[in-house]
Amino acid sequence: MDGSWNDGPRKRGLSLSEVCSTPARPWCGDIPLVRRTIIVILSATQGMIVPMPLDALTAAARCLPTMISRLQQLVDCESPSTSARHLEECAALVEPWLSSALHRPAEITRVEENVHLVARAPDPRVLILGHFDTVWPVGTIGDWPFSIDICSRIGSGPGIFDMKAGIVQALTAIELLPHSDQVSVLLTSDEEVGSASSRALIAELAQDAGAVLVCEPSADGGAVKIGRKGIANYEVTVTGRAAHAGLEPHLGVNASVELAHQIIRITAIGDSARETSVVPTVASAGTTANTVPEFARVHVDARSWTITELDRVDAAMHRLTAQLADAVVNVSGGIERPPFEDAVAGTLYAEAAAAAAALGIGHLAAVRSAGGSDGNLTAALGIPTLDGLGAVGGHPHAWNEHVLIDTMPERAALLGALLARMTGQSLSL
Ligand SMILES: [Zn+2]
Repeated sequence: MDGSWNDGPRKRGLSLSEVCSTPARPWCGDIPLVRRTIIVILSATQGMIVPMPLDALTAAARCLPTMISRLQQLVDCESPSTSARHLEECAALVEPWLSSALHRPAEITRVEENVHLVARAPDPRVLILGHFDTVWPVGTIGDWPFSIDICSRIGSGPGIFDMKAGIVQALTAIELLPHSDQVSVLLTSDEEVGSASSRALIAELAQDAGAVLVCEPSADGGAVKIGRKGIANYEVTVTGRAAHAGLEPHLGVNASVELAHQIIRITAIGDSARETSVVPTVASAGTTANTVPEFARVHVDARSWTITELDRVDAAMHRLTAQLADAVVNVSGGIERPPFEDAVAGTLYAEAAAAAAALGIGHLAAVRSAGGSDGNLTAALGIPTLDGLGAVGGHPHAWNEHVLIDTMPERAALLGALLARMTGQSLSL
């Protein structure tokens, strides 16, 4: 983690350890913090009570107990993309928090089997975009409950980094604003499985707002994401002809052999110079050990920084043809998420960097990521998008997924300050 994140501003207010030992303030959840403009601190040098302005970092830091409480409830509320009932429970948990933060009702909207949490702004200027589904199956919490290590202050639990802590931070960021009439929020329940049911909603709210802030996890040390690779997925199936592998192999058409030809060709579609990856992943073939395989299949994960490259890959994949006589090759699939090309983030990144500087939290790093998100969808529409504004931590989708708990207020303050800049407000309290 970048040392600059720990410098300066905290010295002006309560330390986080002091804050964490205090009970949650009632105004952390339900009433905007900015309306409480004064705190009183004891001047160590003068021995007198001095009124001090409550800055955004201090205000956010005082919400940490509430943030931790919400985070625990949210992690405990398991929400795999594939369980409609659990997703509904998770949406019902977050809805009152979001409605309270915005001072207007959020809606739970059903699209096919999925529920999404939607809060349209009366005068939309910016969309906060996130998801509450995770990759972790129901029951994971039994083996891996929410915890915070008392020494390292590392928070752990399924989905904590991707992206339940990001949701909690976004709620606090909204609570820091004097007004939220220009802030729309969309939290979806199918991001981890391709966003099929939420795409139309994402496009609608993003186009209405004209700018998108995505609260997916940050890159190392809190860096935001200004570009993402586009992703294409394919399934290549091969049909041959079964035969006895010992008695009449010459009568068969070996789907495994044909698949081997295809895998070599598929791999060659990648272009390492352009960082375009085309990777055969899960493969299967055949039925029994003594039968010439009749069927075989392989999944392919392809990623590229540019739509030009991804279109090239897509065309090449759909041109694959059989090499063995009488074998049949079929290719299904296509581009799932177009690339999030760098230029789309430019102005928003400049605003975020300026917000970080104004808060005194130092340089805000920015990176491009090979992983996709719903930010790809809004960026591909040409809508200014900045991603990775969520939690600081590591290892999404892995058993060591974690969040640095004491960075959460700072991230919330950063997002709040960015929202304020984008909506013409001030967090100077
Ligand atoms: Zn995510």
